[in-house]
Amino acid sequence: MTIGILGGGQLGYMLALAGYPLGLRFRFLDPSPEAPVGRIAQRVTADFDDEAALEKFASGLELVTYEFENVPVAATRFLGERVPVFPPPSALEVAQDRLKEKALFRKLGIATTEFAPVHNLKSLDAAVEAMGLPAVLKTSRFGYDGKGQWILRTAEDVANLKTEIADTFAKGPSANGAHASHDSAPFILERFLSFKRELSILGVRARNGDIAFYPLVQNRHHGGILRLSIAPAPSLAAGLQSEAEDIARRILTELDYAGVLAIEFFEYQGRLVANEMAPRVHNSGHWTIEGAVTSQFENHLRAVLDLPLGSTKVYGSAAMLNLIGETPESSEVLAIPGAHLHLYGKSPRPGRKLGHVTLWSSSFEQLSTSLRALPPFFLQPSFCLDEPYARASHSEQSRFA
Ligand code: AMP
Repeated sequence: MTIGILGGGQLGYMLALAGYPLGLRFRFLDPSPEAPVGRIAQRVTADFDDEAALEKFASGLELVTYEFENVPVAATRFLGERVPVFPPPSALEVAQDRLKEKALFRKLGIATTEFAPVHNLKSLDAAVEAMGLPAVLKTSRFGYDGKGQWILRTAEDVANLKTEIADTFAKGPSANGAHASHDSAPFILERFLSFKRELSILGVRARNGDIAFYPLVQNRHHGGILRLSIAPAPSLAAGLQSEAEDIARRILTELDYAGVLAIEFFEYQGRLVANEMAPRVHNSGHWTIEGAVTSQFENHLRAVLDLPLGSTKVYGSAAMLNLIGETPESSEVLAIPGAHLHLYGKSPRPGRKLGHVTLWSSSFEQLSTSLRALPPFFLQPSFCLDEPYARASHSEQSRFA
C-alpha cells in the first residue's frame, strides 16, 4: 500500500519512518530535487501546480496526505478527484489564510487576539488607530517561521512599515482592496499580546470520527522559529488541558477532519487565546517519537488510513530542541543521558531546521536538571534555555529578537 505525501521535508521524512513498520510505502512530491525524503523514499520532483505530474504521482496511491502547509489548495482538489486526500483540502484552505482561520475560530466561539483585515495603507492607519500599539502586522498568507511579520511599537514603526509594504498594495486590485472583505485582505493587524507563555495541543481525528489528544506542550520561539518544546507543559493550571481539548474537538469536528491537527495558543490571563492552527503533523509534537506510546507521525497515518488510533499516553517528561542552521557533534549529543538525535539530511543554511534533539527524563524535575547540564553548544541564547522550567514566563521580546 503506497501513501502519497505532498512536501518532502523533515515532517514527511518522519511520517515515512513511522509508516515503514506498518508495512506502508511512500511516494513524495516536492519541487526541490534536494528534498530530504529522497534518501528514504520514492520522490517525484515537480511543481505542485504541474497537473501532468500530479496525475502521474496519484497513479496507484491508496491516499494522499500533506506535510507542507503552503501546498496549493488547487493541487489537493485536483488529486482529490483521483484519490482520497486527508486532511480535507478545506482545512488546508482555512489554515493558509490567517483571516479565514480567525473567522473559523470566532464562528466556533474560540478566543483569538483582537484583529483587523488590512486592505490598503489607509485601512492600516484606521486599524492602528482603533487597536492602538503595540500591534503585529502579518501577511495573511504564506508566512511561516516568523517571516512576513512586523511588530509595531511606535508611530515611527508604522511609517517605516508603510514604505516597506506599499509595493504589495500596488500589485493589483485584490491586493489594494478593490475586493475588500472581512476575511480577505493581504495583511492582518493583531493586537500584541503580552502573554504568559505559548502552548500548543495536537489533536488527532480518525476517519471514523474517533478523537485523541496529546497533552499541552510549552513552546519557546526565538527569531520567530520554534526552538524549544517542553512536554507536557509544566505548572499547568487546572482546566487548561480540557479547555484546549474542547477547542481542538470543535475544530476537528467542524472540518470533518482526518489526521493530526496542531493548534497554537497564547496563555493569557489564565485562559487560552488561539493564535493559529496547522493541518498536519507539527514541530511541537516531535517529542512524541520517544515520549508517547504512539508518535504523532504514526497516529497521523493511522487516522488517514482509517485504522484504530494509538494511545497518546505520555511517558515521563520530554524536551525537544531544534537544531537551526548548525548541528553539534553527534558524539556530543549522544553522550547526554536520555538524548535522542534526529538529523534530517539537509545541507546547513542559516535559519534552516536541520534536526532536533529530544531529551527524555522520567520526571519534569529530572528533565530540568538535564537541561541545565547540557553541553556548551546548547547554551546559546537561541535555545531559550535561560529560564528554570518550573517557572514558566515569557519575555515578549524573544519572538522578535
Ligand atoms: P505566528 O506565525 O502567528 O505563529 O507568530 C510567530 C510568533 O510570533 C508566535 O509564536 C509568537 O511568539 C509571536 N506572536 C505572534 N502573534 C503575536 C501577537 N498577537 N502578540 C504577541 N506575540 C505574537
